[in-house]
Amino acid sequence: MQKPSKLSTSSTPSTISTSDLSTSDLSTSDPMLSYTANWHTHTYRCKHAQGDAADYCAAAVSTGLSVLGFSDHSPMKDGRWSGVRMDYDQMPDYIRAIDEAAAAFPSLHVFKGLECEWVPTLGAGYYADELRDRFGLHYIALAPHAFTMESGTEKWIDTFHWNKSVPIEEKAWLKGYARYVVEAIGTGLFDFVAHPDLLGCFCSSWTAESEAASRTIARAAKDAGMPLEINASGFVHPWVADGNGGDRAPYPWLPFWEVVADEGADVMINTDAHNPANIVANIDRAYEIAEKAGVRVVSAVPLRRM
Ligand SMILES: [Zn+2]
Ligand SMILES: [Zn+2]
Repeated sequence: MQKPSKLSTSSTPSTISTSDLSTSDLSTSDPMLSYTANWHTHTYRCKHAQGDAADYCAAAVSTGLSVLGFSDHSPMKDGRWSGVRMDYDQMPDYIRAIDEAAAAFPSLHVFKGLECEWVPTLGAGYYADELRDRFGLHYIALAPHAFTMESGTEKWIDTFHWNKSVPIEEKAWLKGYARYVVEAIGTGLFDFVAHPDLLGCFCSSWTAESEAASRTIARAAKDAGMPLEINASGFVHPWVADGNGGDRAPYPWLPFWEVVADEGADVMINTDAHNPANIVANIDRAYEIAEKAGVRVVSAVPLRRM
């Protein structure tokens, strides 16, 4: 893995505004520069990660990162899916931990965010007011860990940890998944899409239908100016059959990213670290996908609402 290069940003400490750090400061034609930023980081509060904000900041500094964004799994107002996320009343502690870590590591640019599923029945105000504004978040990542075939229903299909006792309806699910991601992008509540190629978890092979779903998502992201994330954590999940006698990581899935390159949507590369030791794990493999696909890599969240 190539050693991270340093960005020529100022030494502004702690959390900063976009007037200090604009997208253009961090966007670069040299994709290797993106090694200096990771926008997808968890803490122990989600119940399946280790370490707190300061541990990840220390790991980030030691590996040469200059930008670290925290995006722990969001609490849900109604307490749903609570086994893999913090409770709402833990939010002040989450923010305090990030602020204290930012102060303790002044050479690092630290940003506060969450990784959220779009649940229409919670209402847009929950995301905009009770999460982003109340806690001063810099960004919210959309995570399509589950989706619904129609808007506003509560019939959730698990994209990622799909229940193997439920028969996969691949063609229908591809339509539903793409529909859901496009709806979420259209809300304007989210700043990038985490692992948009999670559809690779339930697809048996690359087909006309998987290409169509991927293109629908890529086009919506391009139109919204929203980056799509190549997520390096997918390499460590159990691999799946590739439909040609071999196997592949469930994600990142190369043909998805070839479609993204074709449609011209921006791409971020993040590690989705759930352990400080993995702060840059497999990032070189994610870059290989980006290079093979020919996508345009940006290293900053647009932070459109700051
Ligand atoms: Zn997680
Ligand atoms: Zn994540």
